[in-house]
Amino acid sequence: MDVEAEKLHTAERHKKRMTRYVLLGAVVSVLLVMGVVLVVYFVATTADGDSEITIISRAEWGARPPRSRANVTSPVPYVIIHHSYDFGCLNKSDCEEHVRLIQDFHMDSRGWDDIGYNFLVGGDGDVFEGRGWDVRGAHAGPDWNGRSIGICFMGNFTDTLPSEEAITAGKMLIQLSVQRNKLMANYTLYGHRQVLDARTCPGEEFYNLITEWEHWKPGNYTTT
Ligand SMILES: [Zn+2]
Repeated sequence: MDVEAEKLHTAERHKKRMTRYVLLGAVVSVLLVMGVVLVVYFVATTADGDSEITIISRAEWGARPPRSRANVTSPVPYVIIHHSYDFGCLNKSDCEEHVRLIQDFHMDSRGWDDIGYNFLVGGDGDVFEGRGWDVRGAHAGPDWNGRSIGICFMGNFTDTLPSEEAITAGKMLIQLSVQRNKLMANYTLYGHRQVLDARTCPGEEFYNLITEWEHWKPGNYTTT
């Protein structure tokens, strides 16, 4: 091989190597971009999961202070679904008033320490903090109150269903409870009538619907 040919050969090899580097660079860049997109997507959707549901705090709806409260050990294994068996409410200010009325009824007529439920859901999908997480409710009897989250859908769902907004919000509240480690990931969901005697709660129509929800289990713990 003469000198010129050797130079050519070297140049050729150099060119090939450069091409390989450029290709490698392109692949690495694409992977990096994909990685960044994935991270951004993940962060955005995770943040969304938390922000799509707004819980109206006790201070916001004007709760009376509880007479006393007992803590529960979270995460709890059960969700118990209720309806309020009344006319319900369809917007934020009506629902706030409605939640205050339920609290008055539970504290003054029933003589309980606070509103019975852990959370309540209004007809427009607003979620209200009742006793909240980590606090023992008064909604399903002594066997269940200390190991469940009681969610009350406001309204009478004997012959009709809660609104789509309320159903979506209730399901998101359950998801959020799992995300925040207040509810076990393998939780069981019951309707009130499954755990306490002489109850129709959460209403015939709504009860039939929740039997199709994830984590609902058949079972009857009543004694009659
Ligand atoms: Zn109930």
